[in-house]
Amino acid sequence: MKRVLITGAAGFLGSHLCDRFIKEGYHVMAMDNLITGDLKNIEHLFPLSNFEFYNHDVSNFVHVSGDLDFILHFASPASPIDYLKIPIQTLKVGSLGTHNLLGLAKSKGARMLIASTSEVYGDPEVHPQKEDYWGNVNPVGPRGVYDEAKRFQEAMTMAYHTYHGVETRIVRIFNTYGPRMRLNDGRVLPAFIGQALRGEDLTVFGDGSQTRSFCYVDDLVEGIYRLLHSDYAHPVNIGNPNEITIGEFAEEIIKLTGTDQKVIYKELPTDDPKKRQPDISLAKDILDWEPKVSRAEGLKITYEYFKSLSESELYKKEHNNFEQYIKK
Ligand code: UDP
Repeated sequence: MKRVLITGAAGFLGSHLCDRFIKEGYHVMAMDNLITGDLKNIEHLFPLSNFEFYNHDVSNFVHVSGDLDFILHFASPASPIDYLKIPIQTLKVGSLGTHNLLGLAKSKGARMLIASTSEVYGDPEVHPQKEDYWGNVNPVGPRGVYDEAKRFQEAMTMAYHTYHGVETRIVRIFNTYGPRMRLNDGRVLPAFIGQALRGEDLTVFGDGSQTRSFCYVDDLVEGIYRLLHSDYAHPVNIGNPNEITIGEFAEEIIKLTGTDQKVIYKELPTDDPKKRQPDISLAKDILDWEPKVSRAEGLKITYEYFKSLSESELYKKEHNNFEQYIKK
């Protein structure tokens, strides 16, 4: 049985990856420090003998016993409001955490895939974004803590690949959505659906002309699975190129939820990218991958998930574990 370590396993993407690797017959070692993750996302896996959970912060030395075939590094706050609240931890998990895990990969002879991001392109001046675009990032702006941690993460990963011969893979993930996103994580989709469910107006930041391209989580997981098993060590974009303005997206959510609330406009956050759309020709070419789930289908499934949450979940303002962590 192949053994895989997944960090950030209790988070949105990490938990879906755990499901996929369990389904494929792997032994899964799941790791998370539960700052933004939630055990509810993986509790259905606890009874399985090929699933283990470790509560650990990968910014500190990481030890796992036994053989290891693969490492998937998905631990990190990923929502702008999260990484504004815990900026130092965000920098540490992308830099020190990646270094620790690369060291582990080297000592175990494991292949490591890192979760990079479309944020390495910053507020892009090239559209759509191709992997050979170097990006337009403000290192000292509010998003810098995430963007630069991820850029450092890519550089560190390539260095271990080049100088130590570690087998590495880099996925650049564009906006992804689906069940198990946190309703209060501040990102646009849970924000809009949460507002609709609570009977509040939908808050569009800026004039709503900025664009994003939303990928359903199952499509992303398929792309990551294929990339891990490929022999390509340079970064690969995985995302859905179907681009939409945030203003139009709000209208779609209003239709989907049948809410009679309206759109209200709020100030655009600093350094908010004006456009974002992946060029996925590389993934098509080397992984024979492209997204299969339309936004209409994916949004329906995601809306059903959010509707099934409890009242207390719907009105919770903040993730429980933040406060204790921020004090550290
Ligand atoms: N946004 C919005 N209203 C909200 C939350 C976000 O208009 O309540 C906007 C945000 O300014 C950005 C886009 O939606 O332009 C996507 O934001 P998100 O935080 O989901 O992720 P990003 O792609 O910016 O990292």
